[in-house]
Amino acid sequence: MTRYVSAWSEPEVLRGRRVRALVVILRTSGCSWHSRTGGCLMCGYHEDSGPADADDIVAQFDGALGRHRDEAVIKVYTSGSFLDPDEVPPAARDAVLRAAFDRAEHVLIESRPEHVPRIAEIDGPSLEVAIGLESTDDAVRATCVRKGFSLAEYEGAARMAREHGALVRTYLLLKPPFLTEREAIDDTVSSARRVARAGEVVSVNPVNVQRDTGLEDMWRDGAYSPPWLWSLVEVLGTEIDARLISSPSGGGKARGAHNCGKCDDGVLSAVREFSLDGDRKRLSLGCGCRELWQAQLELEPAAMAPGLDYRRSGGLGTIPRPLTG
Ligand code: SF4
Ligand SMILES: [Zn+2]
Repeated sequence: MTRYVSAWSEPEVLRGRRVRALVVILRTSGCSWHSRTGGCLMCGYHEDSGPADADDIVAQFDGALGRHRDEAVIKVYTSGSFLDPDEVPPAARDAVLRAAFDRAEHVLIESRPEHVPRIAEIDGPSLEVAIGLESTDDAVRATCVRKGFSLAEYEGAARMAREHGALVRTYLLLKPPFLTEREAIDDTVSSARRVARAGEVVSVNPVNVQRDTGLEDMWRDGAYSPPWLWSLVEVLGTEIDARLISSPSGGGKARGAHNCGKCDDGVLSAVREFSLDGDRKRLSLGCGCRELWQAQLELEPAAMAPGLDYRRSGGLGTIPRPLTG
């Protein structure tokens, strides 16, 4: 297939400077972890994969570059790992990076840790590798995400990327299944603290329920609800020595991070602005639904059914009373 999945331009920050980034999503054969094992519980990226050889991938990228204007950053995404040679053959990988560095000063790619050693084969003046760690807790990552690698493997890959002169961007997943809202916040806050590193980015991705995933089945059965936007706001308020950002896909919708429906747009726009300027004052927001969120944080372990979504149901009256004896 010679047509890329999608491409768009978005604001970005590069070494403290506001710039624009061209985002390109290439269609590849897909994540090999997914094809070997069924993949991570929340991942529906296989929807965007299909047969694509090295020539197809180069042709897709050439086509997408037609949308390049003056973006200083190019982000090259696939539905898996750009450094996986089974997904992006090295000839295509090198041709794409050459073309990207011809146009932009900084290039971002994504990879699982096991493919990061391949970075030794590539050259580029200013490269950033994004790794979907999701959580620093090995049990959460194994049981709630089914990610298939350890924190030690992530740390080894990050070290290798930095030794090669690249920056590391770490993705954390807010509220994988089987955690209460409070546990999810605490997991992401402690993960962000652990991976933070000056000059790098930690990106918090609230779960978005994607089609044809194990998580979608749980959501339909009422056994999972996506996080509140208030939970994201609490996580982004964490003081860490890195740039903390979030761009919630599906934000404000039933499948993505959401609040009551009335305040969602305002919160999402504050999150967008905060992600560019890091000004925590933007996160001082209010809405009546914060009380319901706070009640969930306190009562969910004892008295609320964890998978039910109480947000748009009209108030605290819907929460079962705690058992007081
Ligand atoms: S989240 Fe990443 S590693 Fe997991 S299955 Fe999807 S593409 Fe593969
Ligand atoms: Zn609200």
